[in-house]
Amino acid sequence: MRLRRIAGLCFAFAALVFADYTPKWNRPIPPYRVISNIYYVGTNYLASFLITTPQGDILINPDYEQSVPLIRSNVEKLGAHFTDIRIILISHAHDDHAAGCALAKKLSGAKLMVMDADVAEVENGGAGDFAYRQHWTPVKVDRVLHDGDTVSLGGIVLTAHLTPGHTKGCTTWTTEVRDSGREYHVVIVGSPNVNPGYKLVNNQEYPEIAADYERTFRVLKSLPCDVFLGAHGAYYNMEDKLKNLKPDGPNPFIDPEGYRAYVDEREQVFRSELARQHHRRH
Ligand SMILES: [Zn+2]
Repeated sequence: MRLRRIAGLCFAFAALVFADYTPKWNRPIPPYRVISNIYYVGTNYLASFLITTPQGDILINPDYEQSVPLIRSNVEKLGAHFTDIRIILISHAHDDHAAGCALAKKLSGAKLMVMDADVAEVENGGAGDFAYRQHWTPVKVDRVLHDGDTVSLGGIVLTAHLTPGHTKGCTTWTTEVRDSGREYHVVIVGSPNVNPGYKLVNNQEYPEIAADYERTFRVLKSLPCDVFLGAHGAYYNMEDKLKNLKPDGPNPFIDPEGYRAYVDEREQVFRSELARQHHRRH
């Protein structure tokens, strides 16, 4: 019985370790302007954003190490320079958003700023994550962020909201931009997702995980949102919205209803998974 349980755990562990989404998620797509001075420079499935300012640029999510050349090429296609990036930020310390931090920092000379509870993973190359055993190039974090901290550059102010659970330092970024004479609240969701294999109940490595997800949904519901973005385009139906992005039409990324519906749906998925895991235990 004990052996079988160990075998089962090993299998679950192997599934977590060996799921490699790199080729599938790392296909190049052309960059485009999302709104105001926010540009999409990511891959088909990994959302990276370049926020340009007169004093240099901010890159959110260098993605996989293999993504960095694609991101750099997208930055150049926009007429910007990778060496103009002054600040690198991440959504959370998983390889698909953070493994490229070392290379992106080396190529740009930018400062890397990471939420406190994700700093250890970034500096250890993914080791120490509660769910995954990842190995990417470790990199020094230049500024440790805390919940509510702001990152400012050239008139842009980004606020780091701790939205933990998916990782301990998972970060939702917000900012305000002006476009065509109007102000918009922008939200870049870190991740509200309970990944396959995540233990919400009796998690020895992350005992407060369920309470952290609760906090995340409270925070996400409290944020004013006009422009709905996230760490993966799939969070906000990027593909469909991109098809509707016309020079003279309404901006499809302005989607406050879509944001609220997404957060509600994700919260329901979390609650039913939590109930299922509680039920299984008793
Ligand atoms: Zn993740």
